Amino acid sequence: MNSFKKTLGILSLSALLIACNNTSKPTDQADMEINNLISLPDKTAFQATIDGKKTDLYILTNKNNMQVAITNYGGRIVSLLVPDHDKMIDVSIGFDNLKSYKDESEPYFGALIGRFGNRIANGKFSLNNKEYSLFINNGKNALHGGKKSFRSVVWDAKQVQDNVLELVYLSKDMEEGYPGNLSVKVVYTLTDENELTIDYEAITDKRTVLNLTNHAYFNLNGVGSSDILGHELMLNADNFTPVDSTLIPTGKIISVKNTPFDFTKLTPIGARIDAKDEQIKFGGGYDHNFVLNPNPTKGMNLAAKVVADKSNIVMEVFTEEPGVQFYTGNFMDSSHTIKGGKKDVKRTAFCLETQHFPDSPNQPSFPSTVLEVGKQYKTRTIYKFSLK
Ligand code: BGC
Repeated sequence: MNSFKKTLGILSLSALLIACNNTSKPTDQADMEINNLISLPDKTAFQATIDGKKTDLYILTNKNNMQVAITNYGGRIVSLLVPDHDKMIDVSIGFDNLKSYKDESEPYFGALIGRFGNRIANGKFSLNNKEYSLFINNGKNALHGGKKSFRSVVWDAKQVQDNVLELVYLSKDMEEGYPGNLSVKVVYTLTDENELTIDYEAITDKRTVLNLTNHAYFNLNGVGSSDILGHELMLNADNFTPVDSTLIPTGKIISVKNTPFDFTKLTPIGARIDAKDEQIKFGGGYDHNFVLNPNPTKGMNLAAKVVADKSNIVMEVFTEEPGVQFYTGNFMDSSHTIKGGKKDVKRTAFCLETQHFPDSPNQPSFPSTVLEVGKQYKTRTIYKFSLK
């Protein structure tokens, strides 16, 4: 009897394996597309010495077995293992080794962005009656802080608790063309409420501009699970900042009403992503700053909510920043091999980069990004995970 049961077990296992190997029907394929990366990358693949400083992979944990892996090379979120009903899902796109992060063509996966998130027109701005010139790295504009930028510097790291990582970096006066010795501290905290909190602080010894963010790329179905077009998104934004063909804001703030930019109610990301619309054309999809509706009560503002279509994961973004860059990975082109040996196919991820508006130093009507001497830059963003 026992051996009969065993044989049956082996037979059904083989049937299952054969069935898996023969998945040619699109529905089966869709199921297979939920990519469950349940383990973290190997720590040793992140241990090196760069610019005389040691790099490593730090793991934050909480009581729900959620795990966040962060490297101090660029302060990057490498993996984010989030609980679904019956398994863990890695929702953050990245590489499983340091070497791939060092490739200049990588699209800022999970990185801390500084000194200035997004674009500055023609890489120039004026402050203190002086014109400052930045490294041009995006057409005729400067993008995400310059040639090296905060994504490729080694942060001094201290894991102060199982769930808290402190990162510190001193950006020297005129580094990447920005004035002032800037002392930056970023603290990642993973709470038992399944929130990843990012606290940014900075002080300067010369008047400067600053716009820090994190460039996490999410796929709530799991890393490598096809595109994110079926995810539903709500953005707490009645307005956005339209751009020119080089993705520099025109300076206007316009209503999202009757445009493909209206995400005031949960809407599939892909519903209007290829609409015949000049702004969509300029971004090759969504690559725009949304103006968050102010929080009527003081404190953290709900910026966005995203609901996965193939997993049960829901992500909410809270912030103290006035804007969020919604980017749908339009420039991803399968040129990088990401975790799990997958390719970074077009739109396999979305970003919600909380920020001040792009090109603010050249846009007097936008909220100011000037940091004064003696003032502390302090801002918090939270990515909170729950289930449908
Ligand atoms: C920008 C995109 C850019 C991406 C990766 C986003 O913040 O808005 O245009 O391609 O970052 O650099």
